[in-house]
Amino acid sequence: MTVDGGFTAFISLGSNIGDKAMYCRMGIAGLAADRRTVITGRSPFYRTEPVDYTDQEWFVNAVVRIHTLLDPFALLTLIGAIERGAGRDRTGVRFGPRTLDMDILFFDDRIIDTPELTVPHPRMHKRRFVLQPLCDIDPAIVHPVFRRHVRYLLDHLDDEGQEIFPYDDPGGAPLP
Ligand code: ADP
Ligand code: MG
Repeated sequence: MTVDGGFTAFISLGSNIGDKAMYCRMGIAGLAADRRTVITGRSPFYRTEPVDYTDQEWFVNAVVRIHTLLDPFALLTLIGAIERGAGRDRTGVRFGPRTLDMDILFFDDRIIDTPELTVPHPRMHKRRFVLQPLCDIDPAIVHPVFRRHVRYLLDHLDDEGQEIFPYDDPGGAPLP
């Protein structure tokens, strides 16, 4: 199928409860199942150290690139529905454990600043677990606020703490 118009967006996926890789795969499958959205790129999965609220389990993280006919707010509604379908419970501590977190990192080169949606995602440029998988898909993506490639942002991270490792998932189902 070819589509005219539409947008390119990058979505991060993260889980640190239960079968974390399975929840990330559910997130990707949920995007792929939407008729207005096609997955056009996918990073490897990573095992990552928690940041912000560190007294919790390690995460599995990944990033996907999509082509979508949805506007940014409709995309936010879609990822919220996919998170809820994966059993996401929002009653716990902010930045705390979650079955599935999906965030919009970039939406074309748009800059959006509303109470419900901030794009580019306001913390992504400080997070190795986001920048590394973004670089795996395309190191030359330009951050529209900082006007730097994501490779540059990764190379200039000042936080040495954030450990990330390739996620080895021998028993995992094939990724969509
Ligand atoms: P966080 O992802 O910051 O850990 P949540 O997943 O609970 O926290 O998100 C809280 C709210 O953040 C969402 O309800 C959503 O409205 C808002 N939000 C703002 N910008 C974005 C974005 N770029 N991607 C996803 N959610 C966003
Ligand atoms: Mg989120």
